[in-house]
Amino acid sequence: MRLPPETRNILSRLTGVIKDVLFPAQCLVCGAFFHHDLQNKSCLSAEVLQAGTAPDFEKVMAPFLCRVCSKDFVAAVSPMCTVCGIMFQSREGEDHICGECLTSPKLFGMARSLGAYERALMAVIHRMKYAGKVQVARPLGKLLFFAFIRYWGISRIDLVIPVPLHASKIRKRGFNQSFLLVRGWASMAEALKIELPFIKVDGRIFIRKRWTEPQTGLDKKKRLKNIKNAFGVSESAKMEGKRILLVDDVYTTGATVNECAKVLLGAGARRVDVLTLAQAL
Ligand SMILES: [Zn+2]
Ligand SMILES: [Zn+2]
Repeated sequence: MRLPPETRNILSRLTGVIKDVLFPAQCLVCGAFFHHDLQNKSCLSAEVLQAGTAPDFEKVMAPFLCRVCSKDFVAAVSPMCTVCGIMFQSREGEDHICGECLTSPKLFGMARSLGAYERALMAVIHRMKYAGKVQVARPLGKLLFFAFIRYWGISRIDLVIPVPLHASKIRKRGFNQSFLLVRGWASMAEALKIELPFIKVDGRIFIRKRWTEPQTGLDKKKRLKNIKNAFGVSESAKMEGKRILLVDDVYTTGATVNECAKVLLGAGARRVDVLTLAQAL
């Protein structure tokens, strides 16, 4: 028997409510059990975008984090560096270039993040990468998608590329978190009725040629040496004249994305920008 869509909707909501009562969700950060408001589940609507207000961390992460943890997020706000996006300690004044970007100029144009690499955001990224909680990639990707719209706009990027992992790392981990973050962008754009005619997420034309030590725990000099010549472009023709947005999970010193930018610009890209979930302070 085929039920009308409204009845199916009501039934699925009802099942959701029963499931929530019987099996409360467990917070990915602190492990506490909690019930979340099903009304809040979907924040992806054309109205949200038109109103210029992106869905926030608290709402989008509500099915995965308890109330306390979902509020424990430090959003990236001005004043920040116009290049790398690092937030200045002083919360007053305009955006300007930071000392680090002045002394070692970056090859990418602009890097932006959702928030600071600490508290709930850091915990969620760790759960996704090291505990295989890949279900958070889509909501995090949704937040990234709105950050992309906010900082760049749909007409300023031609190609979105997740920072690649080496094949052996993908085999070990089972996934590339950066790829998972952007995987849903096409369907999100479709749901919002936004046309992204030139944007294509392609994970094969830009590759990690060489296995590298994890950058965590290395100082700036060692990071630069470690990541040198790690990336390669398989089809330069696809980069020619393109404005590229690189997507990664964490921006720490910028060594990785800067090396990526060097290779992409060398292959003919017109400009490379960077969007990450978190910025290390
Ligand atoms: Zn919690
Ligand atoms: Zn900077």
